[in-house]
Amino acid sequence: MAPADDDPMTLIDRLVGNAEQWADGFTAGELAVQPSLRLAVVACQDSRLDPQSLLGLGPGEAHYMRNAGGTVTDDMIRSLCISQRFLGTREIVLIHHTDCGMLRFKDDDLLDALHRETGVRPTWAVETFDDLDEDLRMSMRRILRSPFIPYKDHVRGFVYEVETGTLREVHLTEGRDDHREAGADWRAGTLD
Ligand SMILES: [Zn+2]
Repeated sequence: MAPADDDPMTLIDRLVGNAEQWADGFTAGELAVQPSLRLAVVACQDSRLDPQSLLGLGPGEAHYMRNAGGTVTDDMIRSLCISQRFLGTREIVLIHHTDCGMLRFKDDDLLDALHRETGVRPTWAVETFDDLDEDLRMSMRRILRSPFIPYKDHVRGFVYEVETGTLREVHLTEGRDDHREAGADWRAGTLD
């Protein structure tokens, strides 16, 4: 759907119209609040990445946590913690992607500009990265090291290639901490 400048109806008006049609054909009112596949998906907010279609998932089957980069921040840990403790999810899939906006600038570029323009420097971390695979591994490590995520046996990370539509797995043991991770008992949470 392309935005039309000469249309008096705003984009959001049209979306609300779509939602009315959705309600007319709605049949999924019996779905449980707990995702039936016990799955949580952590992904970038990029518009080209549609985790539900990509992974062949339907309504009621998984949780989706998205932010700029798909990076595991404290707020992602909060959502995952709630997802596992109260809503029964047990497996986590992380998805980063090629051509991510977070590869295009540096943390300080944004922080300096905001400071300059507003007089206030944000206290939040921007979390840009220059190595897609390594940021994905770091995100997996944050989950594996978090004391607040009880179920860590099934945590896997992938890079989605927006140019080809393909999904590539990134393994934790391929990274710069190879030597360290090889002998570590991650799943028991013995590190940190
Ligand atoms: Zn992205």
